[in-house]
Amino acid sequence: MSSHPPASRPAPPVTNGAIASALLALSAAETPGSRPASEYRSAAWTLRQLPDELFGRRVRLAALPGVSLRAADLIEGFLACHSDEGITDRLTALLDREDPRKELKRDFLSRADVDRILAAAGEDAGLSMKDFRGDLHLHTDRSDGKMALPALFRALSERGDTYAFLTDHARDCAVAGGLFAEDFRAQKSQLDILNDRAGGTFRMFLGAEANIAEDGTIDITPARVPELSAVVASIHTELRSPRDQTARLVRAIETPGVAILGHPRGRLYDLRQGIRADWPRIFETAAERGVAIELNGCPERLDLPPALARLAADAGCLFSVASDAHAHRHLEFVRYSLAVARLARIPAGQVVNTWSFERFSEWLEERRSGCV
Ligand SMILES: [Zn+2]
Ligand SMILES: [Zn+2]
Repeated sequence: MSSHPPASRPAPPVTNGAIASALLALSAAETPGSRPASEYRSAAWTLRQLPDELFGRRVRLAALPGVSLRAADLIEGFLACHSDEGITDRLTALLDREDPRKELKRDFLSRADVDRILAAAGEDAGLSMKDFRGDLHLHTDRSDGKMALPALFRALSERGDTYAFLTDHARDCAVAGGLFAEDFRAQKSQLDILNDRAGGTFRMFLGAEANIAEDGTIDITPARVPELSAVVASIHTELRSPRDQTARLVRAIETPGVAILGHPRGRLYDLRQGIRADWPRIFETAAERGVAIELNGCPERLDLPPALARLAADAGCLFSVASDAHAHRHLEFVRYSLAVARLARIPAGQVVNTWSFERFSEWLEERRSGCV
């Protein structure tokens, strides 16, 4: 694969993503709960979801969903800035200082960014949906998702995926909901029936999203619930702590039964930066153990960002491109993950869910076999 970034359509001088960031900065400067605060926030949300860039198009802004007249006026002003740098200057003037939260919005992608990055074709373009065989981070209504398992199963098999890895939370997780050991057993029986009915065209493996406690221990593994093929292990607490959390992640990666390190940094768009850690050390451990690093495609997470993903690729890590879907419309978040993989120039061969069913299930079995 080429070491150059993929050739893609050039970004317009003013992007929806930069306007959305500016709107959020203005929202944060308003009185919390006030009308302007919520209007700017809702307009930013809309802009991040639009498939087309607004710059250079004739669009009645106030007709867009969630865009008030007041927000439309602001967007108009930002579009007239002629560059993303111009937006920063205008924003600084409006706020009378630099956006204090700008680092929390760096290296995220809008839907239009994702479409542009994935539009590049040709040999050097990098990973695309045609390489993708199945999602490896999925929630149902048994934990904190909205889809029932049969509906999720049907949606993925109808999309033409080859396999999937089901990853509801376990009970101990700090996140809402969560399954007990017997609930995972029930899920396994339900999956066996669905997999049988699919007749080999599509297969869903039973996993879990295990929680990594502050000491690096894991709340659920195949050693405790043998019905599980393996787990995605992720952090959900202490995400704002200033302390270094290398030991926590290393211990999790070294736990038998862990196949994937989920949303490694725990960052959230406009909310938190995520943990501090010695990333080269973590990636080295993951590469040695054959544990995949997740490129979480949820637009609020995009975790890892491209530069860290590139570092992990250089360390020889495997990757999982995944949606972390909690609802049907989230299934397309895998495209965001693919866009990050492209920006980080990750070769398809290093991404476990581009592999054939046989190779993928062998890898999953190897992750599991350390503990049973
Ligand atoms: Zn999670
Ligand atoms: Zn999740």
